[in-house]
Amino acid sequence: MYQVNEVFQTIQGEGRYTGKPSIFVRLQGCPVGCSWCDTKHTWTLDPELKTSPEAILAKRSDTPAWAELSPAQLLALFAAEGYQARHVVITGGEPCLYDLYPLCEALHQAGYSTQIETSGTFEVKAPDSTWVTVSPKINMPGGYKVLASALARANEIKHPVAMQKHIEELQALLSEHQLQDKLVYLQPISQQKRATELAIASCIANNWQLSVQVHKYLGIE
Ligand code: SF4
Repeated sequence: MYQVNEVFQTIQGEGRYTGKPSIFVRLQGCPVGCSWCDTKHTWTLDPELKTSPEAILAKRSDTPAWAELSPAQLLALFAAEGYQARHVVITGGEPCLYDLYPLCEALHQAGYSTQIETSGTFEVKAPDSTWVTVSPKINMPGGYKVLASALARANEIKHPVAMQKHIEELQALLSEHQLQDKLVYLQPISQQKRATELAIASCIANNWQLSVQVHKYLGIE
């Protein structure tokens, strides 16, 4: 069973799969503690806030309510909602708090491709064919280290940037783990002009790719 905060269909706005119709499954729980986190409502799993799958589907705002769902129940929800997307993005919170093999395998058997978005601070438990996006959360208040195994498993590394020190942190991490050949996306934080200019210059200098959170420019979820 998985504790689910939110399920919705949209267009993936970040990284390699930008533009792809996707079903997002947001899992509840994250101890990493990033101060600028925009999903703080997913951090804790309060038993008193357990709700129904229908209430999760009907959510129109960010709340810490969650529902418990099996992979089969999630697939039934997708069908009931008439979702057309064939790509499922499992996000959080921190989805790698969970063993994601059963969920990803059930989704693959039903014809979906899968993607995980993780901070890299927990072991990735998912099939080889799942696309893994590691957005490394370095030196966050929760005290979790970015794991070498998660970085090695990453199909892409997506790094939010607002200032030069974020570039230097990333370069140090890539160098420490000898990951200079990884596919790297820089993502300006909050569409700030200065962050975007820094990201563009750093992408050109390092031959990295730019990820601009297309969904935010489009005003969609
Ligand atoms: S890892 Fe993600 S969900 Fe967790 S605190 Fe950081 S930004 Fe928020």
